[in-house]
Amino acid sequence: MESEKCIFCKIARRDLDANIVKESDNFIAFRDANPVTEGHTLIIPKKHFVTLLDMPNKLGEEMLKIVKGVSGELMDQGLADGFNVLNNNLEVAGQSVMHAHVHIIPRKEGDGVKIFH
Ligand code: AMP
Ligand code: ZN
Repeated sequence: MESEKCIFCKIARRDLDANIVKESDNFIAFRDANPVTEGHTLIIPKKHFVTLLDMPNKLGEEMLKIVKGVSGELMDQGLADGFNVLNNNLEVAGQSVMHAHVHIIPRKEGDGVKIFH
Protein backbone atom coordinates (compact mmCIF):
# COMPACT_ATOMS: atom_id res chain seq x y z
CA MET A 1 0.00 0.00 0.00
CA GLU A 2 1.25 3.49 -0.84
CA SER A 3 0.94 4.74 2.72
CA GLU A 4 3.32 2.00 3.94
CA LYS A 5 6.26 3.69 2.22
CA CYS A 6 5.11 7.29 2.56
CA ILE A 7 7.42 9.32 4.85
CA PHE A 8 4.62 11.61 6.06
CA CYS A 9 2.43 8.59 6.93
CA LYS A 10 5.43 7.28 8.91
CA ILE A 11 5.63 10.58 10.80
CA ALA A 12 1.86 10.46 11.47
CA ARG A 13 2.23 6.88 12.77
CA ARG A 14 5.26 7.94 14.89
CA ASP A 15 7.43 5.45 12.96
CA LEU A 16 9.73 8.31 11.88
CA ASP A 17 10.99 11.08 14.16
CA ALA A 18 9.84 14.62 13.59
CA ASN A 19 9.71 17.78 15.65
CA ILE A 20 5.95 17.76 16.21
CA VAL A 21 4.58 21.11 17.37
CA LYS A 22 0.81 20.60 17.23
CA GLU A 23 -1.75 17.89 16.71
CA SER A 24 -5.51 17.65 16.27
CA ASP A 25 -7.86 14.73 15.56
CA ASN A 26 -7.01 14.56 11.85
CA PHE A 27 -3.85 16.69 11.45
CA ILE A 28 -0.29 16.90 12.69
CA ALA A 29 2.14 19.82 12.47
CA PHE A 30 5.92 19.40 12.52
CA ARG A 31 8.98 21.43 11.60
CA ASP A 32 10.28 21.10 8.05
CA ALA A 33 13.60 19.20 7.92
CA ASN A 34 14.98 21.77 5.43
CA PRO A 35 13.54 25.03 6.71
CA VAL A 36 13.31 28.00 4.36
CA THR A 37 13.27 30.16 7.51
CA GLU A 38 13.44 29.32 11.21
CA GLY A 39 10.14 27.81 12.35
CA HIS A 40 9.10 26.58 8.87
CA THR A 41 6.33 24.09 9.66
CA LEU A 42 4.37 21.50 7.70
CA ILE A 43 0.76 20.58 8.41
CA ILE A 44 -0.40 17.19 7.15
CA PRO A 45 -3.60 15.17 7.37
CA LYS A 46 -2.96 11.97 9.34
CA LYS A 47 -4.64 10.02 6.55
CA HIS A 48 -2.85 9.61 3.24
CA PHE A 49 -4.22 11.97 0.58
CA VAL A 50 -2.00 12.90 -2.38
CA THR A 51 -3.20 16.45 -3.01
CA LEU A 52 -5.71 18.94 -1.70
CA LEU A 53 -8.16 17.63 -4.33
CA ASP A 54 -8.27 14.27 -2.55
CA MET A 55 -9.10 15.74 0.85
CA PRO A 56 -12.72 15.75 2.03
CA ASN A 57 -14.24 19.22 2.39
CA LYS A 58 -15.32 18.42 5.91
CA LEU A 59 -11.66 18.57 7.02
CA GLY A 60 -11.46 22.19 5.89
CA GLU A 61 -12.48 23.82 9.14
CA GLU A 62 -10.12 21.69 11.21
CA MET A 63 -7.28 22.38 8.76
CA LEU A 64 -7.86 26.14 8.95
CA LYS A 65 -7.88 25.91 12.73
CA ILE A 66 -4.48 24.19 12.90
CA VAL A 67 -3.04 26.51 10.21
CA LYS A 68 -4.11 29.50 12.31
CA GLY A 69 -2.93 27.86 15.54
CA VAL A 70 0.59 27.18 14.24
CA SER A 71 0.88 30.57 12.52
CA GLY A 72 -0.36 32.44 15.59
CA GLU A 73 2.16 30.67 17.80
CA LEU A 74 5.02 31.50 15.42
CA MET A 75 3.96 35.15 15.63
CA ASP A 76 3.62 35.00 19.44
CA GLN A 77 7.04 33.31 19.77
CA GLY A 78 8.65 36.13 17.79
CA LEU A 79 9.70 33.75 15.00
CA ALA A 80 7.47 35.53 12.50
CA ASP A 81 6.38 39.08 11.75
CA GLY A 82 4.24 37.63 8.95
CA PHE A 83 3.93 34.28 7.22
CA ASN A 84 3.20 32.52 3.95
CA VAL A 85 0.80 29.58 3.69
CA LEU A 86 1.79 27.42 0.73
CA ASN A 87 0.40 24.19 -0.68
CA ASN A 88 2.17 22.56 -3.66
CA ASN A 89 0.06 20.10 -5.67
CA LEU A 90 1.81 17.60 -7.98
CA GLU A 91 5.34 17.65 -9.39
CA VAL A 92 4.92 20.51 -11.84
CA ALA A 93 3.93 22.76 -8.92
CA GLY A 94 6.90 21.66 -6.80
CA GLN A 95 5.32 18.86 -4.72
CA SER A 96 8.11 16.45 -3.76
CA VAL A 97 6.34 14.45 -1.02
CA MET A 98 3.17 12.91 -2.41
CA HIS A 99 1.17 13.26 0.81
CA ALA A 100 -0.86 16.48 0.95
CA HIS A 101 0.71 19.16 3.14
CA VAL A 102 0.60 22.86 3.85
CA HIS A 103 3.76 24.91 4.47
CA ILE A 104 3.75 27.70 7.04
CA ILE A 105 6.77 29.87 6.27
CA PRO A 106 7.56 32.51 8.89
CA ARG A 107 8.67 35.82 7.38
CA LYS A 108 10.71 38.73 8.64
CA GLU A 109 11.74 41.99 7.02
CA GLY A 110 14.84 41.47 4.88
CA ASP A 111 14.81 37.65 5.09
CA GLY A 112 15.50 37.44 1.36
CA VAL A 113 12.89 34.72 0.75
CA LYS A 114 11.42 34.87 -2.73
CA ILE A 115 8.30 32.74 -3.10
CA PHE A 116 6.70 34.47 -6.09
CA HIS A 117 9.06 36.44 -8.30
P1 AMP B 1 7.00 19.92 -1.10
O1 AMP B 1 8.15 20.33 -1.97
O2 AMP B 1 5.89 20.91 -1.06
O3 AMP B 1 6.53 18.50 -1.41
O4 AMP B 1 7.58 19.92 0.37
C1 AMP B 1 8.03 18.80 1.03
C2 AMP B 1 8.77 19.29 2.24
O5 AMP B 1 8.95 18.19 3.12
C3 AMP B 1 10.16 19.86 1.96
O6 AMP B 1 10.20 21.22 2.39
C4 AMP B 1 11.09 18.97 2.76
O7 AMP B 1 12.13 19.69 3.35
C5 AMP B 1 10.16 18.38 3.80
N1 AMP B 1 10.54 17.08 4.32
C6 AMP B 1 10.87 15.97 3.60
N2 AMP B 1 11.12 14.94 4.43
C7 AMP B 1 10.92 15.39 5.69
C8 AMP B 1 10.99 14.81 6.99
N3 AMP B 1 11.33 13.53 7.14
N4 AMP B 1 10.74 15.59 8.06
C9 AMP B 1 10.39 16.88 7.91
N5 AMP B 1 10.29 17.49 6.71
C10 AMP B 1 10.55 16.77 5.62
ZN1 ZN C 1 1.17 9.39 3.27
